[in-house]
Amino acid sequence: MRLHLNENTAGCSPAVLEVLRELGRTAAAFYPDYETALQAAADHLGVPVDHVLLTNGMDEGILAAAIAACRDHSNGVPEAIGVSPAFDEYEICTTAVGGRMVTVPLDDDFDLSPEAIRVALTPRTRIVFLANPHNPTGRTIPLDTLRALAKDVAPAMLFVDEAYADFSGETMIDGAMLAALPNLVVGRTFSKAYGLAGLRIGVLVATPATLAPMRRAVPPYSVNAWAAAALPVAIADRAYRDWYLEQAAASRALLMEACVRLGLPTWPSAANFVLVRVPDAPATVNGLAARGVIVRDRSGDAGCGQCIRITAGIVEDTRRAISALEEVLCAAR
Ligand SMILES: *Cc1c(COP(=O)(O)O)cnc(C)c1O
Repeated sequence: MRLHLNENTAGCSPAVLEVLRELGRTAAAFYPDYETALQAAADHLGVPVDHVLLTNGMDEGILAAAIAACRDHSNGVPEAIGVSPAFDEYEICTTAVGGRMVTVPLDDDFDLSPEAIRVALTPRTRIVFLANPHNPTGRTIPLDTLRALAKDVAPAMLFVDEAYADFSGETMIDGAMLAALPNLVVGRTFSKAYGLAGLRIGVLVATPATLAPMRRAVPPYSVNAWAAAALPVAIADRAYRDWYLEQAAASRALLMEACVRLGLPTWPSAANFVLVRVPDAPATVNGLAARGVIVRDRSGDAGCGQCIRITAGIVEDTRRAISALEEVLCAAR
């Protein structure tokens, strides 16, 4: 049972599979056409089509943003600012394109200190990466804080990673806000709530001028025809998405309850996973794996001593994971 990558383990909407089955030989032979997928994404997010860039998963969007941000070497090695712990790709992409990652710690409850970001700004700062909800903690950042930060970090870009925004229901994507904050870039993915991780599709959202250098960084056909065909159908099947969001919310509640019962510290999460502190993270991860449950060992991350991250997706999976966790902890005691 894969509870380590926050995937939708029920799979994609059945309607997506139907449309993929209908694709013929020419769909494979021709370069993809993005018009329908772009329009569906733009309508879904409530912005004009020219505010949207389709990417091969949000991971490609993060890379494109890093490339765009790190072009300017006028004051020396360009810098990105992020928090620690955080999603690895911000640092991987920044260093891959010749930039330097500067990280500031989160507080003991994994809350962000906007002041710490401001203090880390230098004339070389080109981009600030923040995730809302945050990964690996599931904690959220108030939208007002993000709005204020976008103003404070300008002219550097503020990249808000909204991989889990479907679960929290909060987003920075809003035409008026994007117009007022031209340095704001929002990344979204259809890997998590929509169950399309295997197809690879995400988007970057920003004003056309802000997106321009990122458009040039993404190869012209980086999203394949199958992903482009799947997207409008996945978006249209709201009932399926809503079902998964309900499952994730119920799973989160079950996991929180179990943690209280088992005396394990955890943090309120707005995403489809929870971070849990156990007595011995590597032993717990191995014990769960021996029972067929794969979870993520995050104990090497800053401030995450003895923490594991468990996907809170399908309730049936969650119940099995909780039983396995109880067994592993009892065996250890
Ligand atoms: C999963 C994830 C992504 C990347 O998703 P893609 O599959 O590349 O679209 C980006 N950011 C965070 C925080 C994630 O957890």
